[in-house]
Amino acid sequence: MSRKDIEGKHIAEEAGDDYLSGLIAIIGPPNVGKSTLLNRLLGTKVAIVSPKPQTTRNRIMGIYHGDGFQMVFMDTPGIHKTKTLLHKSMVASATAAISEVDIVMVMIEMLHPDDPDISLILADLKKTKKTTLLVINKIDQGPRELLLPIMDEYGKVLPLEAIIPISALKGDGVDRLLKELRSRLQKGPAFFPIDMKTDQSEAFLVSETIREKIYSHTSKELPYSSAVTVGDMETLKEKNLLSIQATIHVESDSQKAILIGRKGKMIKSIGQSARFELEKIFGIHIFLDLRVRVEKNWSKDPRALRRLGY
Ligand code: GDP
Ligand code: MG
Repeated sequence: MSRKDIEGKHIAEEAGDDYLSGLIAIIGPPNVGKSTLLNRLLGTKVAIVSPKPQTTRNRIMGIYHGDGFQMVFMDTPGIHKTKTLLHKSMVASATAAISEVDIVMVMIEMLHPDDPDISLILADLKKTKKTTLLVINKIDQGPRELLLPIMDEYGKVLPLEAIIPISALKGDGVDRLLKELRSRLQKGPAFFPIDMKTDQSEAFLVSETIREKIYSHTSKELPYSSAVTVGDMETLKEKNLLSIQATIHVESDSQKAILIGRKGKMIKSIGQSARFELEKIFGIHIFLDLRVRVEKNWSKDPRALRRLGY
């Protein structure tokens, strides 16, 4: 997606000649807090957050509406060394994001500024010559003295327009970050209508929420081997109920057994917490029909990847 792509599609009529807008990518290694920041900026949950890395597989877009301006954010999968085909498609989408946006926010965390994945990001960024801001996140985890050497180091390797320490979790520095971003917007159209916070479909929010619950309920390998597809979503007005059918695809029978759990306990509790979360997002009672299916080696099969939406 690029400025040109969206300009044709959504020009909100209320935007005048002085309207400002910008496409902003949030780029950084897995787990630095990109989704947390996006959720804080937008004041609602559009990207999933997890203590385990690599939960964001697709690009998630969030839209910040200000007075006379609009910022369109892309949350990207971390750029890291490719191993499987799935990882390759994640990296490609992060690299593409850099070339398509107006502003790049590189995000690192204060206690781990030298993540090995960052060198790949830096190499990519130097080529593009984009407006780049460095955001140092998780400053709530240690003393501020740690910031200076990091700022020095990064200032040497990247042409940075600003360095902004924040805590995406607690909110420190986020106002300053917004100001810095606002001052770099260009004259342009409102890309999206004012009431729209994300371009993701409801089905995507459902599958992301279920994936988040798989992460929080299971351990290690399982989440990386599972994908979620959403089937029918139907609103039953008379019952004030949204009925959703979704399937979790795993790679082997043993994974299926783990997901289902003894007497179905695991799948039941995944389904329950996904349902609570979705009821908050959609503001309606939800019936969730959640199934588990074995799809051998889907993460290595290009056709299966496409069918599952990667
Ligand atoms: P992403 O992979 O970069 O999108 O990272 P997430 O937003 O999913 O966050 C990864 C983990 O870091 C989660 O457990 C967050 O709660 C945590 N986290 C994010 N921002 C902060 C922060 O400012 N301070 C602290 N202490 N933890 C944070
Ligand atoms: Mg994320």
